[in-house]
Amino acid sequence: MEKKQFKTESKRLLDLMINSIYTNREIFLRELISNASDALDKRHYLSITDDQHRLNKEDLKIEISIDKENRTLTITDTGIGMTQEELENNLGTIAHSGSLEFKKTLEEAKEIDIIGQFGVGFYSAFMVAKQITVNSKSCHSDQAYRWESTGEDGYVISLSDKFTTGTEIILTLKDNTETENYDEYLETYTLKQLIKKYSDYVRYPIGMMIETSHKKEDSDEVVTALEHQVVNSMVPLWKRSKKDVTEEEYKDFYRSKFFAFDEPAKTIHYSLEGNISYSALLYIPTKAPYNFYSSEYESGLQLYCKGVFIMDKAKDLLPSYFRFVKGLVDSNDLNLNISREILQQDRQMKTMARSIEKKIKSGLEDLLKNEREKYEEFFQSFGLQLKYGLYEDFGSHKDVLQDLVLFKSSLEEKYVTLKEYVERMKENQDLIYYACGQTIEQINQLPQMERLKDKGYEVLYFLDDVDEFATLTLQEYGGKKFKSIAQGDLNLDTEEEKQEIEKKKEENKDLLTSMKDALMGAVTDVRISSRLKTHPVCLVSDEGISLEMEKVLAQNPDNPGIKASRILEINPNHPVFAALQRLQNNEETLKQYTNILYNQALLIEGLTIENPVEYANQICDLMSKLS
Ligand code: ADP
Repeated sequence: MEKKQFKTESKRLLDLMINSIYTNREIFLRELISNASDALDKRHYLSITDDQHRLNKEDLKIEISIDKENRTLTITDTGIGMTQEELENNLGTIAHSGSLEFKKTLEEAKEIDIIGQFGVGFYSAFMVAKQITVNSKSCHSDQAYRWESTGEDGYVISLSDKFTTGTEIILTLKDNTETENYDEYLETYTLKQLIKKYSDYVRYPIGMMIETSHKKEDSDEVVTALEHQVVNSMVPLWKRSKKDVTEEEYKDFYRSKFFAFDEPAKTIHYSLEGNISYSALLYIPTKAPYNFYSSEYESGLQLYCKGVFIMDKAKDLLPSYFRFVKGLVDSNDLNLNISREILQQDRQMKTMARSIEKKIKSGLEDLLKNEREKYEEFFQSFGLQLKYGLYEDFGSHKDVLQDLVLFKSSLEEKYVTLKEYVERMKENQDLIYYACGQTIEQINQLPQMERLKDKGYEVLYFLDDVDEFATLTLQEYGGKKFKSIAQGDLNLDTEEEKQEIEKKKEENKDLLTSMKDALMGAVTDVRISSRLKTHPVCLVSDEGISLEMEKVLAQNPDNPGIKASRILEINPNHPVFAALQRLQNNEETLKQYTNILYNQALLIEGLTIENPVEYANQICDLMSKLS
């Protein structure tokens, strides 16, 4: 049989494992047992749904055995097994993205200590084994196959004489060195400890021959005998009572079961009895997986039915805005034979999904209230998803989400909730002010910000494209309307100030009209501004489509030509205004000045100017006149 090489990325991961000096290498056993358990899950499911594969539940098990002489450790399961092709595909390459991410992080971090945080699976066995032999018979095949490898130089697949369905993994342990001792993995005591520590909740019996010694009756003679024992308690973690599970156990489970590499921000564990009874163990992650915001990311909860694994990613159990949640659900009320298609329409699934949503919501609220820092860390990763949620489905998830979103604000440049904002609004304030921009610094420099800050109003920074769309769907919070500082009337002025503006408007009516004409339809109006303090001009838009939205919409080729109605506002207290007044009868220069001011306003808004060359020439022209 020909020797095959590992795929390159697998080979690198393998090298890491082989040469690992990692102290936590004991996790290899957890990984192999967890693979065995998955394989048993698959066979169990098949046995229930397909008459041809019927089986007694008692026949589903894992066996661990040792051979001290040959220094081998064997893990056998009666799971689904692997065909020749599957041996090739599954063990010759890295199967899931978790491993890929692991490799990437390792390369970036250059530290080995994060191995334990990843489900790196099968290959981790090379941390302790110099040779691995896998004998496997798939329940879809009459022939068993053997996969053998010493790591570095590839693997060989040949026929095997294994006659029972399932997989047997034989590890020939590495030779001991002066500093490293691998013999401990040949000690039943150590193995038993490891199984208790990492795999106690595995729902299939993990059996081992264990040496027991007891005194002979009527004599002091001690006899030792080998006795078969089931080492794990088999109670799945989620079926245990909350008070009996430690924080560490929850975390370990999170990482090994869901290939997570962060700390959960919150763990939600509960059982419900009622219309539909189920237990759930849900984790809110802290960090977004690298592919979270891509279509590659698959969301969903693991679904169990009466303890039988049904499927890995039951999408319908999570609303899209909570798609970052990882976890599992185990229900006694679902029909085992249920197919994926029926599951989607199942009434009980829908009921369950609704109650899961509620639990996640209150879990997040709890985190926000009691562990603000953790919540903000969570929000950095997943806030965008929550905000998209507000916008989705015409805002129908408002009640779930509006109190979970955060925005940075001008008060301290910290995150605030809408509730906090509204609660500390100024007495006479009836609008929630926000400003759009790429960065906080950029927004702070907007001409419009000055007067708002002067008047002591807090402004929310809208830094993500979705923000303004989300609030537009919300329209208001706590009876207060959202208001862009670059749109419409900000209602900043006192009665006196208002009258003052009205007066100026009247006095400069002709000037404003001439300016508007000079811009030849580029703006819908030129107005006296009440939102500027030291800056000469700004560009605002009327109610409706804002300039920011225009920018976002322009990125989408399906939305051509949706434009904000632009208004040029001018500061009547700025010296440039006086200059304009003096130019009333000099049409050409007034036109030139107006154009320059309009282009400046565009630039400040981060919009492109139509004719940059003309703009540059106009400025130069002006400069040469002055000097
Ligand atoms: P994973 O994290 O996907 O389990 P592994 O490297 O541990 O990655 O395993 C790769 C794949 O090999 C598994 O997804 C599974 O399909 C298959 N596999 C591993 N061990 C077994 C087993 N004991 N029985 C059946 N299939 C197995």
